[in-house]
Amino acid sequence: MVLKVLGSSSSGNCYILESDTEALIIEAGLPFMEVKKALNFNVRKIVGVICTHRHNDHIKHLKDFVTSGIRSIAPNDYWMEHITEWWFQYGERYDETRKCIDIGNFKVMPFLVVHDVPCYGFYIVHQDIGSLVYATDTEYIKYRFKNINHILVEANYSDDLIDNEAVNREHVLRGHMSLQTALDFISTNDNPSLRNVVLLHLSDKNGNPVEFLQKTKETVKYGADCYIAEKGLEVDLNLCPF
Ligand SMILES: [Zn+2]
Repeated sequence: MVLKVLGSSSSGNCYILESDTEALIIEAGLPFMEVKKALNFNVRKIVGVICTHRHNDHIKHLKDFVTSGIRSIAPNDYWMEHITEWWFQYGERYDETRKCIDIGNFKVMPFLVVHDVPCYGFYIVHQDIGSLVYATDTEYIKYRFKNINHILVEANYSDDLIDNEAVNREHVLRGHMSLQTALDFISTNDNPSLRNVVLLHLSDKNGNPVEFLQKTKETVKYGADCYIAEKGLEVDLNLCPF
C-alpha cells in the first residue's frame, strides 16, 4: 500500500491509499481526472472517496466522483445542501454517530475535530498497513491513538512565522493546527510501531517546510520516517515490506 499525495494545500487537497487491488481516495479537492491519472486510469480499483468537511479545497470536485459512480462519502451537512438526484443515487453521509464505515477492506472511523464547520478526522485500519490517523483543518485533536502505525496530520503554521498584522491572522489561527500543536500530538502518539509521520496542509506564507521537517524528526523517538506532504510525494505504508 502506498500513500500518494496529489495536493495538500488550500488550492486543493487529495490523497490516495493505493494497493495492487484497491484505492481509497481521501478528499475531493482536485479534479477526478487527476486521480485517474495517478491510478494509470485503473479507476475500477477505487473503493470510495471520503471527505472531511464541506470547504471547497476538500470537496469541490466530489460531484465528478459521484457522477462517475464512485461511492462518495461526506459529512451530513454537506449533503443537506446537495439533495438532488445524484445524492440519492450515490451519496453517503456520516456524522459523529456513525462509528465505522467499511470501504472495500478499509475500516474508516470518523471522529469530530475542531474547525469552523463540522469537520472529521479519520482513523483507518487495513490489513496491509495496520492503523493510520488522518486529521486536517483542526485546531487540535483531543483523542489519543494507541499503537498507531501512521500519522497524517496538519501542521499549518508556526507561531514564529505568523505576521501579527496580517489581516488573515484570525482566519489562519482559527480552525487550523500550529506546528507546535502537531508536534505535541505526534509526541503523545509516538510509539515503537509508528512507521510514518506526514505533515499536511502547510501554509505557503506561515510554514517553513525545512524547519517543520527538522522539528518533526527531533520529536519522534522511535525512528519513524517523516515527510512533508507535497504534490507527487509517495510513501510506502506496508507493515511487512515483502
Ligand atoms: Zn476547511
